[in-house]
Amino acid sequence: MTTAATTATARLTARGIVYRYGGIEAVAGVDLLAPPGRITALIGPNGAGKSTLFDCLAGTVRPDAGRVLLGGRDVTRLAAHRRVRLGLARTFQQIAVFPTLSVADNVRVGAEQHRGRPDPRAAAERTARALGLFGLQDVAAEPAAEQPTGVLRLVELARALAGGPRVLLLDEPAAGLDTAQTARLVTVLRGLADRGMALLLVEHDAELVAELADSVYALADGRLVAGGPTRTVLADPRVTRVWRGAG
Ligand code: ATP
Repeated sequence: MTTAATTATARLTARGIVYRYGGIEAVAGVDLLAPPGRITALIGPNGAGKSTLFDCLAGTVRPDAGRVLLGGRDVTRLAAHRRVRLGLARTFQQIAVFPTLSVADNVRVGAEQHRGRPDPRAAAERTARALGLFGLQDVAAEPAAEQPTGVLRLVELARALAGGPRVLLLDEPAAGLDTAQTARLVTVLRGLADRGMALLLVEHDAELVAELADSVYALADGRLVAGGPTRTVLADPRVTRVWRGAG
């Protein structure tokens, strides 16, 4: 079976990431690894620095110190759109779609970010596949503005996947999804990992993390408090104290 995913795999590595807002160290020296074929979760209470770390990984902001590696390549100084072209895609906590464009055209924007030469026919195929993956065919021609939050969340995901990423960063992908949509999300993300994609997600829902993630990093006050296999980290008293206690 073919999907919007590609066969080329890559790991995402962060080393010693530091990011400051003025004098505040929002990310205070974080190392992490998102390997191919695995779902890695990043958890932590509000304000822990998860979104800021994501921004550093995706290239929306540049860290004050540390390095971001995609495969063997140092991308720390590359802008976000250049990282997308190298196969690093992301979705946002605040849904970001073009409201006046149709659902399909929103997904096509992602398909056109594909690595390699522009190819309209291949982009159309990738768009159709990504729409199908999330069951969005029926609303493909409708304006994004008319869709409920859950559908827009799936549109964002489809757009990210249509670009054929090797590494996918997901910021609270299940927020706003109903039970059926969440079940579909779990199946799709698992399938992508099984085909070699590296997935890193920020997620607040403990049950979803337990169900989906192979390994977990727990962040608090900009620092890692634990990292390792999901079951071990979720049972770690330091983690339950800062995360479950806060949630
Ligand atoms: P949440 O779960 O609420 O999204 P988070 O773990 O993603 O939180 P960040 O949003 O990365 O955390 O915030 C990390 C720290 O940086 C917090 O103390 C936050 O208040 C601060 N911060 C975030 N954005 C800014 C900004 N634009 N200017 C100043 N401080 C900021």
